[in-house]
Amino acid sequence: MISPDRITPLSARERQNLRITDMRFCDIDTMPKRCTLIKLYTNAGIVGYGEVRDAATRTYAAMLKSRLLGENPLNVDKLFRRVKQFGFHSRQGGGVSGVEVALWDIAGKAWGVPCWQLLGGKFRDRVRVYCDTDVEGKHTGHDMGLALKKRMDMGFTFLKMDLGIGLLINEPGTLTAPLGFLEEMKTCASHSVSAPHGSMAPDQMAGKAYEINTVAHPFTGIRLTEKGLDLLEDYVRQTREVIGWDVPLAVDHFGHICVEDTIRFARRMEKYNLAWLEDVAPWHYTDHYVRLRNSTAIPICTGEDIYLKEDFQKLMAAGGVSVIHPDVLTAGGMLETKKIGDLAYEYGVMTALHMAESPIGAMAAVHVAAALPQVMAMEFHSADVPYWQDIANGLPRPLIQDGFITVPDAPGLGIESLNEELIQKLVCKNIPGVWEETSQWDGDICNDRLWS
Ligand SMILES: [Mg+2]
Repeated sequence: MISPDRITPLSARERQNLRITDMRFCDIDTMPKRCTLIKLYTNAGIVGYGEVRDAATRTYAAMLKSRLLGENPLNVDKLFRRVKQFGFHSRQGGGVSGVEVALWDIAGKAWGVPCWQLLGGKFRDRVRVYCDTDVEGKHTGHDMGLALKKRMDMGFTFLKMDLGIGLLINEPGTLTAPLGFLEEMKTCASHSVSAPHGSMAPDQMAGKAYEINTVAHPFTGIRLTEKGLDLLEDYVRQTREVIGWDVPLAVDHFGHICVEDTIRFARRMEKYNLAWLEDVAPWHYTDHYVRLRNSTAIPICTGEDIYLKEDFQKLMAAGGVSVIHPDVLTAGGMLETKKIGDLAYEYGVMTALHMAESPIGAMAAVHVAAALPQVMAMEFHSADVPYWQDIANGLPRPLIQDGFITVPDAPGLGIESLNEELIQKLVCKNIPGVWEETSQWDGDICNDRLWS
């Protein structure tokens, strides 16, 4: 029987004897994406809350359990270095990162201090939140402007929208592609070309859809026509007409086109003063990013799929980005994201934080943002999910006020407990079970050494 989650600080002896005893999960839906929540249990009753990156799988974290059982969770960096080899880019970084967050939550609760204090103290008392906004189905730039205006009326001070070839795919004469390819995309991989975009649904990672969705930007052969560029330009002009020119507007989910057309698009967009262009090329093509950044006056942004600081450093050292956009739950967790933000500060590169997760992932991002010398804003994707905040108890209500989250002083992440009743209602139908035992992972151990 597991005791209720403890949040009172531990004595010196309890800290010395603290051990990890269990790791359990539940998957909830409609946050708006699928979120895998983690509980990391200890022998002192403290439970650390963590989360695997949105739309990933608990397997990425569960495989770490056998490497952590019996260890003192307060040695966060030591344990992170033990398991970091089992993470990788994008969702595959979600296990290591989510567990690292849970370790910091335990450390904060054990010492009775907030996570931002453990990361070096804070630079700010509240963190700006930018609001991602989708409009369903066929729509105009005016419609998007109205949706964004509603966000501004809610108090948000920084905006982002999707803008890309999904708006053109049913408009004749706007795209050139190997004949038949666009039709295949529409029938087999509709998610990649229809707003709202975002994480791939699991069924988009199987069969023919997998084949299409994994053709990267340089290889699709899709080209923008002048008519296509005219339509996209007119869309942004209409959007700006509604929201005005005072508020920053970032753009994401362009679609998979070659870097040359991305440059043509970026040059057309310069007059609309966009905050940044996000992920318009695969992040690992450093040369594409350098060409793009040197060809336009719009800030170029990437990073939500990069695991560990080394690849951020490579991009920044090459001059490929003006904005980095790490997700704490992919980058390697809270300390690694703090290191990434510190590096960006030295390179003169702006940091914004990607976040499309539950309040656990959100609070992990808030503590990191508080501890960074500069951060523009962190993302929020759940403005239309009224119960989003309700899964976590103990946070200020509403959590987001006038477009900011106040940095909490409570121990750990600042979450007292989880709303188990609500979690039960939100459990993914195809991944049932809440905090069920995971002993099948206890003995999953092998020779982890990377050399002989
Ligand atoms: Mg994005």
